[in-house]
Amino acid sequence: MSLVVLGTVALDTVKTPRGKRRNMLGGSAAHLAMAARFFTPVNLVAVVGKDFPLSHIDFLRRKGLILTSLKKESGRTFRWEGEYKGDMNAALTLNTELGVLSAFHPELSDEEKRMKYIFLANLDPDIQSRLLDSIHSPKLVALDSMNYWIRHKRRPLLGLLKRVDIFVANDAEARELSGKHSLLDAARKLRRFGPKMILIKKGEHGVLFYADNLCFSLPAYPVTKLVDPTGAGDSFAGGFIGYLTKVKTINKQAIKKAIAYGTVIASFNVEGFGLERTAELTFKEIGARLKSYRRNLSL
Ligand code: AMP
Repeated sequence: MSLVVLGTVALDTVKTPRGKRRNMLGGSAAHLAMAARFFTPVNLVAVVGKDFPLSHIDFLRRKGLILTSLKKESGRTFRWEGEYKGDMNAALTLNTELGVLSAFHPELSDEEKRMKYIFLANLDPDIQSRLLDSIHSPKLVALDSMNYWIRHKRRPLLGLLKRVDIFVANDAEARELSGKHSLLDAARKLRRFGPKMILIKKGEHGVLFYADNLCFSLPAYPVTKLVDPTGAGDSFAGGFIGYLTKVKTINKQAIKKAIAYGTVIASFNVEGFGLERTAELTFKEIGARLKSYRRNLSL
């Protein structure tokens, strides 16, 4: 089943203890789609500016992403600059430049409007809502956001939460949005905002899943070669939703396997700057690491 991924396609400048890169290809939708493509065709919905290198568009196309609804507008591409220090568990945002994102109106093809699986990756909640309005009869809608939007667009974000099935957030975002410090309390409060399934990412400490009748944590895959955590959350989400597009029934077993796939793909993504490592990743490598992750869990 095809997946529609709406979000940012960005030029990222990132500094970590392992080095610095300027204007790399990044963005929530790019990272998410690059992970989900291992499971299903992915239609990328985003906007870039006139300054966006053609080589990046070629790259995304070569990786199999469907770019019918990737718009190019006059103006500058969305840019994000961040830094990771110490254990690299949290990104410090140094600069966010919205550029063409400020006036972005996603437009879908008729085929995309009929698609059933939708991931609203980190983006302005007003734009996320507009996209959802144009989908005819979605089967599964997932949403991600971040502190930037929680602070600037809280009300539209709360409205949107009523309309989605899955909400994915990191620990700091879950705490900020819910006003609760304990992650379990935060998950319960977020559930009351609307989504049936809540996933709270805890960086190197793994993921907490919460639904009315199911609540568990799974660990991260231990990574020895941590280079750049940018996109870890999005590649986790991409692997997670990608796998769910393949299953007939979303039950406990499917959710656990989806989380395992997301965890493993994210563990590769952080081994290189930006999309460097994920770009070269093969399904065979994912399978081998998944096997070792599952083996470790049954100890
Ligand atoms: P993460 O998976 O949380 O590490 O997401 C990293 C990606 O999010 C980067 O590639 C950024 O371009 C993108 N990003 C950063 N800030 C924002 C924002 N305010 N809205 C949408 N995307 C963003």
